[in-house]
Amino acid sequence: MMNSQSFQDGACAHCGEPKNVDVFGVPFEKPYIGPWRNICRKCRTEAQKITWASLSSWESFLMVNLCYLDGYIDASPKCGIPIHPETKRILPGLKTLHEYGLLSTGSQPGSTPDGMKPLYSIGEGWFQDQQRPYYQFLIPTLHEEISIVKVKDLVDRLLAHADIVTTVWSDCDDYPVSTDGTVNEAREVAPISEEAAQDEVVQDEAAQDEVVQDEAAQDEVVQDEAAQDEVVQGEAAQDKALQDEAAKDKAAGELNKMYYFRSNAPPDGHWVTRSRDAPDSMMIRTAEWFEFTTSGPSTVDEIDEGTSTCGMGPDGKRFPGIVKLRPLAVQVGAREWTGDLDLLRLVEGVCQRVGLKKTFRKASTNYLGGTASLYGYVWNVEPREVAMGSITQSS
Ligand SMILES: [Zn+2]
Repeated sequence: MMNSQSFQDGACAHCGEPKNVDVFGVPFEKPYIGPWRNICRKCRTEAQKITWASLSSWESFLMVNLCYLDGYIDASPKCGIPIHPETKRILPGLKTLHEYGLLSTGSQPGSTPDGMKPLYSIGEGWFQDQQRPYYQFLIPTLHEEISIVKVKDLVDRLLAHADIVTTVWSDCDDYPVSTDGTVNEAREVAPISEEAAQDEVVQDEAAQDEVVQDEAAQDEVVQDEAAQDEVVQGEAAQDKALQDEAAKDKAAGELNKMYYFRSNAPPDGHWVTRSRDAPDSMMIRTAEWFEFTTSGPSTVDEIDEGTSTCGMGPDGKRFPGIVKLRPLAVQVGAREWTGDLDLLRLVEGVCQRVGLKKTFRKASTNYLGGTASLYGYVWNVEPREVAMGSITQSS
């Protein structure tokens, strides 16, 4: 049995390097509290990657992400580091949205102009910064307990909402990107697979045209009046069938558009942090702001082919448990800098409006029930042996 001292100061049980120091050898300000305490940060990240990759259900992904938000897991496959301390301010909202099935992959709280005070000095001048809140999440489209129609409704309403800037794309599809150095500023772009499917439809239509031509030729040789009547009736039936087919294609087309890259962000980015500085504290109030980070992709060119918003497994590939659910990646951010928008509450309101239920409350409850059941779940329900190479349970 290890004592707490050895947790703090000992060597990694896997590689022998010092534990509890970051990549620069600097001790962590706050010790890691999760189950992988007896191994170093680097080994832990690898072990956690394997755990993520082994998950098979959306519930598991939600639960492990909740563990990450609370620090029991200190690396997500996407960013590989613990959450930023500022995220603690919006944790309750992020966790609630997990109950609806929304898996958070990135976020930041907003700050109000009041929140920038008091000013603090750097060097000889004064400096201020400010944030717009943003939130990125994944929601599966092929999960049996989440209606695809409601998911479509959710993203359509977010895209139409006046208070936010929204970008949506299919997380496990690839999109055509510009190769000539210019930025593709299109606000709607079909994934490559959809383009291929459309080509097939066009080919099918060409084949159908040939059949119609053949039929026309046949019609010409029909001389009997009664036979002609029959043809007219047959054509009426055919028209009806074609109309039905067109209606079906239209419905499918509208549903398929949910996998398009769609955005109402400016193509040069939705900026979410800005700063300004001035030589004295009076001048800073009229100084010009400089925007310096965006919330994420605002053009289809910024979506990396073959990568996932959720992250990648140790093999560098998208997680099979994610791919099979064909999730949408959604990114929303406040349109204004006023800092008074409760972005997560807004998203929850839209979830409720489209009829999404707290289907995953149980997963959240299990998780919130305590670390014992949490570890039991991650280590026993999910294939434990996959991760055991690097993990030794600490007591
Ligand atoms: Zn190690």
